[in-house]
Amino acid sequence: MDDPEPAKGVTLEGIAGSPGLAVGRAVVVSTKRAGVRRVHVERADIGDELARFDAAVASAARALREVAERVPRGRAESSILEAYVLMVEDETLRADVESRVRTELKCSEWALESAVHRIAEQLRASSDSYLAERSHDVEFVGDRILMALAGQPRTPVLPDLGEPVIVVARDLSPAETAGLSRDRVRALVTEAGTRTNHTAILARAMEIPAVVGVRGLMEQVGTGDRLIVDGHRGRVIVGPDEATVGDALARVERQKKVARAMLVERDRATTTRCGVKVELKANIELPAEALAAVEHGAQGIGLYRTEFLFVDRTEPPTEDEQYEVYRHVLEAVGPRPVTLRTFDIGGDKFVTAFQVPSDMNPALGLRAVRLGLARPELFSTQLRAMVRASAHGPLQIMVPMIASVSELRAVRALLDQAIADVDRAGQSRSTSLPLGVMVEVPSAVIMAAELAREAAFLSIGTNDLVQYALAVDRGSPNLAYLATPFDPAILRLIRAVVVAGDATQSEVSVCGAMASDPVAAVLLVGLGVRALSLESAAIPSVKVAIGRFSVAEAAEVAERALRAATSGEVDELVRGTLAIRLSDLVEQD
Ligand code: PEP
Ligand code: MG
Repeated sequence: MDDPEPAKGVTLEGIAGSPGLAVGRAVVVSTKRAGVRRVHVERADIGDELARFDAAVASAARALREVAERVPRGRAESSILEAYVLMVEDETLRADVESRVRTELKCSEWALESAVHRIAEQLRASSDSYLAERSHDVEFVGDRILMALAGQPRTPVLPDLGEPVIVVARDLSPAETAGLSRDRVRALVTEAGTRTNHTAILARAMEIPAVVGVRGLMEQVGTGDRLIVDGHRGRVIVGPDEATVGDALARVERQKKVARAMLVERDRATTTRCGVKVELKANIELPAEALAAVEHGAQGIGLYRTEFLFVDRTEPPTEDEQYEVYRHVLEAVGPRPVTLRTFDIGGDKFVTAFQVPSDMNPALGLRAVRLGLARPELFSTQLRAMVRASAHGPLQIMVPMIASVSELRAVRALLDQAIADVDRAGQSRSTSLPLGVMVEVPSAVIMAAELAREAAFLSIGTNDLVQYALAVDRGSPNLAYLATPFDPAILRLIRAVVVAGDATQSEVSVCGAMASDPVAAVLLVGLGVRALSLESAAIPSVKVAIGRFSVAEAAEVAERALRAATSGEVDELVRGTLAIRLSDLVEQD
């Protein structure tokens, strides 16, 4: 029944876009561009030419809206498609095209191609990887208008896939991704992309395994080829032999079984073997992820990264728009609580809704709360939306990258003002609006007790704490060997925050990626942490892992880890004590 295949198969390395393992046949999706007409127009025909362009824009926008309407409201894809509609109708693009038609006498197609090329090149030149990624979106939008100008079918077409397959493409737009579903698609693999591009974000939200950024993919894979896609490790095997396929299928079955068994325990509280409760909440980036969080057993949302609301748009979201989104998340997870983090824009984060002043070293520049305090009108708009949303369920507000007590006080003053504005407008709100602080800068660890006295809670962001304490750019593949939360310096910082929390009777949680690793989660419990916020998909395995150890056992390992001299020693220690009892939960290399 199988075609002859190379004995061993070829392994292609990429970026782990969305976790999960899949085996299946490839369908190579062509997202080829429409041919571009290049003719000069007569001066007398300029008006007609611009009218033709406007009609094509209207038709492309209509087509995208039609796709957006097929996507259930509130799903991640629908907001991205709406962002595309805005881009298609963008005034700056229109002005650029008009000037090329008028002054260079180019036909609409040609003028549009030049305008799109200029914008895409500018984006690609950006040192911000997220902005650079957006060049594909601009090209996609340009293609939609070109297709409309050529009178081609308006909706992006994917073949009817029949049986579940692995979609392989140079790049997949959100519009194309929106047409896919989990029962038809086992995995996605793209040549373009990073972890922050939309294919990866959507794949994670839809829980479809994905590997992105695979160099040479389109050269190596043809439709019908058998693939193994490993979204944990960012690896694709083309034409694997029977034994490798057998192993992979067995792993898929094992993972499904473990996932099913763990989901049964969804509503069970997380406790250590000795019965101490640990709270598990979920991290989300998009409102659409809120339901999945509950399905995986989250006791609430511990970190909603609201900066994603500012992406792919030319204007920041209005107060009403933000209010509706926050309300939607609260209603989706209610009566569980939701922690809204105020926007963390700047540094390695991204935004297209407004210009962020550039710094020599963006990670140490105008980022997160610093940007909020520098742009109080934007910050206050967000705070008012959050205050209003509190009428719809238990909500807390959390501030990223606090480096000093005075910053917390400045935010407090803006929040008080936002509360007063909402009251003056006669809008409803909760009387309880806890304001918490992310501890992710070393100075905040040193001042943790003082911060805890003025804040409702502390939440440790280990991703940035590693970056700032070890002076390691969090995006640098060259320094990945240094960037580990198992460094004893990081463990001591976490311990110091726990001690400060105990002294002030404040809740201390951890919301960095460390909390999504079952082994690290047990170590955190040993360090005294009793609340974690993590990726939804990791909740079941972290719950099981915590249940296998008593607090005394975990604390004993943590004490030894705190005395270690290097991260290598900690690795070895946890491998021999914790990981050895969690091997069924942890993906082994
Ligand atoms: C962190 O820094 O650990 C964190 C949770 O926030 P982010 O990854 O969004 O910076
Ligand atoms: Mg952070």
